[in-house]
Amino acid sequence: MRIAIVGCGQLARMLALAGWEMGHHFSFLADPDEGTRCVEGLGPVVYSDQHQSSDALFEALGRPEVVTVEKEHVSVALLESLSTHCRVAPSADAIRVCQHRGREKTLLQSLDIATAPFHVVTDAASLNEAVDTVGYPAFVKSCEQGYDGQNQWLLQDSAALTALAQQMPTLPALVVEGAIRFDRELSLIVARSVSGDTVMYPLAENKHREGILLTSEVPAANISQQTQQQATDIAQRLLEHWSYVGVLSIELFDEAGVLRVNELAPRVHNSGHWSQDAGVTSQFSNHLRAITDRRPGNTIPAEYAGMINLLGREADDALLQAGDTALHWYDKSIRGRRKVGHLNLQSPQREQLRQRLNALEAALYPDGAPL
Ligand code: AMP
Repeated sequence: MRIAIVGCGQLARMLALAGWEMGHHFSFLADPDEGTRCVEGLGPVVYSDQHQSSDALFEALGRPEVVTVEKEHVSVALLESLSTHCRVAPSADAIRVCQHRGREKTLLQSLDIATAPFHVVTDAASLNEAVDTVGYPAFVKSCEQGYDGQNQWLLQDSAALTALAQQMPTLPALVVEGAIRFDRELSLIVARSVSGDTVMYPLAENKHREGILLTSEVPAANISQQTQQQATDIAQRLLEHWSYVGVLSIELFDEAGVLRVNELAPRVHNSGHWSQDAGVTSQFSNHLRAITDRRPGNTIPAEYAGMINLLGREADDALLQAGDTALHWYDKSIRGRRKVGHLNLQSPQREQLRQRLNALEAALYPDGAPL
């Protein structure tokens, strides 16, 4: 099948690498200023500004049978117009909701799914009022274009609030959230096919540094039946709401076994990369199976599995010499704290996996130094 992916980053790359094995062919839709190194050699790249009509764009993409996305910040109008030519999965509506924190949290609330207490604000007065209601510390996040902790403010006191309120006229719509005193962060990755076949990966336990995912471990330890049931219910409500097709990723806060949704991603997710090497059907393959209406495959690994991100650095040879990690390199230039690759590993014992992840973290990011 010909599949067009909107976006040219590492998720598009890993989708295409998985899909080539299944006999699919890919084309990629790029924003005018988007880097395309990750997908070089994997299929033609089409620039969105070079085609006036959706007919012309559809032709340029090679008349795909399915259009999918590797990111949520894409034009909904464009997806809607492409959906008159072929299947678009996940749907334009799922993308529209997930690209805006205000819309996303409002939907979660309407589906009776717990989130942090939140208020959408657009001016200084409503910002002040919202922070008054949720108290300090308060998380303030832009509704759109925020990821990996970007476009976020953690307000600790009224001085910080005053400073942010002064900037308000130049800022876009924001969500103000009460701080959740969670014990840990989890994520759930699920896939649903066109025919409605659904699979779920085990809950992953995720560690972040400076707002960026550093490590994931599966299955998360000490998940009670009630907590698992809660996670399953959350996923089912969302999948049913959209008649969702593809992989959906759900980031969760775990507070003594009670879950709240922090964020949704209508796509494959960094916390699911472990699945590439753990003897299961990877999240990339399952996304492709789901959108091409094939039954998704096994999601339960036989061993404990982990992943550590390479943030703004390579893994030196000494690390790779140990031979127990699989390197995934995105072919991007190394800058700042950019995600440029990751290492996957497995172990028959949880403690062994943890120790190895900790050792890798210490070697890659010594002394807890800023990333
Ligand atoms: P986000 O961009 O929403 O995923 O937030 C980045 C990170 O900030 C999360 O992974 C959490 O560690 C932290 N965070 C975000 N929102 C909250 C909240 N309401 N309460 C506590 N921690 C939060």
